Amino acid sequence: MPALVDLLTLSFAEMGSFLAALGWPRYRSAQVLRWLYQRGVTDIDAMTDLSKRDRAQLAERAAVCSLNATESRRAEDGTWKFIFSLADGTSIETVVIPDQERLTLCLSTQIGCTLDCAFCLTGRMGLLRNLQPEEIVGQVLASQRYLSKDSALTNLVLMGMGEPLANPEAVEESIRRITDRRWGLGFSPRRITLSTAGLAPRLNRVANLGINLAVSLNATTEAQRNRLMPAANHAYSLKTLLDACRRYPLKPRQRLTFEYVLLKNENDSEDDALRLARLVRNIRCKINLIPFNEFPGSPFQRPSDDAILRFQSIVTGRGLDVFIRKSKGREVLGACGQLGSLSPPLVRPLRKHAKRGSPAPALASASR
Ligand code: SAH
Repeated sequence: MPALVDLLTLSFAEMGSFLAALGWPRYRSAQVLRWLYQRGVTDIDAMTDLSKRDRAQLAERAAVCSLNATESRRAEDGTWKFIFSLADGTSIETVVIPDQERLTLCLSTQIGCTLDCAFCLTGRMGLLRNLQPEEIVGQVLASQRYLSKDSALTNLVLMGMGEPLANPEAVEESIRRITDRRWGLGFSPRRITLSTAGLAPRLNRVANLGINLAVSLNATTEAQRNRLMPAANHAYSLKTLLDACRRYPLKPRQRLTFEYVLLKNENDSEDDALRLARLVRNIRCKINLIPFNEFPGSPFQRPSDDAILRFQSIVTGRGLDVFIRKSKGREVLGACGQLGSLSPPLVRPLRKHAKRGSPAPALASASR
C-alpha cells in the first residue's frame, strides 16, 4: 500500500491535483482546505460535509498529520512556550505572547539558524534544517488548538528560531496559507511581521507578501555589527542593508521596524544612540529596543533600566518613535533570543501542568 499523503503538506494547486487523481472535481480543494485551516480539524472523518464514502476514499490515500506539543511552559506573565516535536525527531519552539488586547504568536522558521549572532541562543545550535510550510503553519494551527476557543490569535511574528529569509520559499507558501481568505486561515497580512537579520536582496519578497518587515539592526557601526552579527554583516553590510531599507517599497501609512538589542557596554552608549538616529534618518520607521535577554552562559548583560531609558530618550529626542519591548516569558526561556535546545530540568511535560489543574493544552484534541 502506498504511503498516506499528509494533506497539510499540499499547496492549493497540489491539493487540486491530488483530488483530481481521486476523480473529484476541483472545487473540492477549497472545501478540504477549509476544514484543515478554517476549522482546524485533525482527522479526515471530521470533514462532515463530505459524504461517508468520500471520507473513506480520502482516508485510504491521505491523513492529517498535525503538530503536537510534547512540552509546554507557562510564565507568570502569561507567556506560553510550546515545544513541538516533528516527524524526524527534531523539535521547534513557538511562543504565545498575551499583551493587553493582543495575542501574538512567535513562529520559528528553521530548526536552529545559519547565522551566528553573538547574543542569540538559537545561533549556537547551527542550522539543523529548514522548516517546511506545514511545519510553519502547523505552529499556528496547533497553538490555536491549545488556546481556549475565546482566545483567538490576533498577531503573528516570524521572530522565533531561525532566519525567515534564509528559508524564503517555505515562508512564502506558509504566508499564502495563513492569509488566504477563501480557504486559508484568513489572517490579515497587516497583522503579520517578519523579522530578518538583514538579508538585503530578499527584503522585497516581504513587500510582495504584503506583511510587515522588521530589520534587526542591533549595531551602529560596521565594526560593531561585524562583532555582534558576524555572518549577517559579512554577507550584507550595515550600509548595504540600510540602502535596501531606504529603497523598500512601503505602503502608505506603513512603517519599517528596526529592532535594536540593547547590550550593556556594547551598543548602549550615547554615541550609539546618536548614530542610530542618524542611520535611520529618512526612513519611515519605528525603533523597537529589546533589552538583552540573558540565557545560561550568555556573554552579554542587560543594561540597567536607567541606561535603557536614557538610550530611548536620546533617540526619541531626534524625532523618532522608539519603544522598549517588554521582555515576556524570560523565566521560561521564551523571550527573544532564548529559543534553542533546552536542558531537561527547564522543561515540564504537559501532563504535570494538567495534574495541577492549570489551563494546559488538551493533548487529546490532536491526532498525531
Ligand atoms: N533571524 C531573525 C528572527 C529571529 S531573532 C532576526 O534576526 O531578526 C528575533 C529578534 O530577537 C531579533 O531582533 C534579534 O536581534 C533579537 N534577539 C536575539 N537574541 C536576543 C537576546 N538574547 N535578547 C534580546 N533580543 C534578542
